[in-house]
Amino acid sequence: MKKTYFTPGPAQLYPTFEKHLQAAVEEQLGSISHRSRRFRSMYQETAENLRALLNIPAGNQIVFTSSATEIWERSIQNLVGESSFHLVNGSFSQKFYDFSVELGKNAIKQDAEPGKGFEVAEVQIPIESELVCLTHNETSFGVMFPASSIHALQALNPEMLFIVDMVSSAPYPELDFTKIDSAFFSVQKGFGLPPGLGVWIVNEKCLAKAEKLKAAGHRIGTYHSLPLLWKNALSFETPSTPNVVSIYLLGKIAGDMLQKGIQIIRRETAERAAEMYGFLEKSEKFKPLVQNKAHRSPTVLVTQTSGSQKVIDQLAEQYMVVGSGYGNFKESQLRIANFPATTEAEWKRLLKMLATV
Ligand SMILES: *Cc1c(COP(=O)(O)O)cnc(C)c1O
Repeated sequence: MKKTYFTPGPAQLYPTFEKHLQAAVEEQLGSISHRSRRFRSMYQETAENLRALLNIPAGNQIVFTSSATEIWERSIQNLVGESSFHLVNGSFSQKFYDFSVELGKNAIKQDAEPGKGFEVAEVQIPIESELVCLTHNETSFGVMFPASSIHALQALNPEMLFIVDMVSSAPYPELDFTKIDSAFFSVQKGFGLPPGLGVWIVNEKCLAKAEKLKAAGHRIGTYHSLPLLWKNALSFETPSTPNVVSIYLLGKIAGDMLQKGIQIIRRETAERAAEMYGFLEKSEKFKPLVQNKAHRSPTVLVTQTSGSQKVIDQLAEQYMVVGSGYGNFKESQLRIANFPATTEAEWKRLLKMLATV
């Protein structure tokens, strides 16, 4: 029997993955030139499908990197001269901050405890911040900073650039790309693909900032500097040989999601999450980590439990894989991904099993 992965990345593969991979093999896409017309049409299809799926304006570019981790670094290099600001409430948002420190910037952060989120009214962004770095979904503790909060925070600070890490929630959040300047994700979470591709969405303000920094003598990187990525993207090309097969597969799966309907995907995600949180609240064995319901992630659900390894083992016997707690919370928490790749029947089966462990 095949396992079902409810892990927060790498995660369950999208149901149509195998079919599309087979088509890629048959078309020998692993061997084509990334300067060929076939590749350019593939890049274009993937970009167009993502544009439609996430409602990305025509003026924004969609560029590819090796991972989301790379985009943490590239965005700091290209969008920050001196100062960045970060909301930090777990190890992923912390790493984004760490990268800025490591790159020699004046990185300022506001922290929240594990399982806690942020209220817009409490956020204090220093006036000198050039880039505001937000994590829509903090994967380590299943805490969401809602899209509406992101938009409200931007409206209060219209002169700063806003970037959103949507790695473990895309395509769920309904971000308004006319308000934020940049967002990014990698494909092994909500898109249900094998790891190895980062997707970076940027607007013209980001490009202008990178060019300004370069002109002022800042080092903005080499082959993956934003101006070079942007210039290549204009003709659906990439500066280096990219993960061609993954770009193809992402385009196909974004197409499948479009066909299903993004609003249906979002509604199903919200409904399944509500079902699981409802169960966790009533359960004697489990308790949702995040108390504030508005901050509970619909895509990575974290529950407290005594002895998570035992639960993980029991689920494994039933071919269901859930994630352990993050870092120090490995033994006392579980992380359950609710990504579009898992079916309604699989989610029901997980709920049923959790009720019996
Ligand atoms: C997984 C994850 C990343 C890192 O993604 P990679 O593809 O491993 O680079 C960054 N941010 C968040 C919120 C994540 O969940």
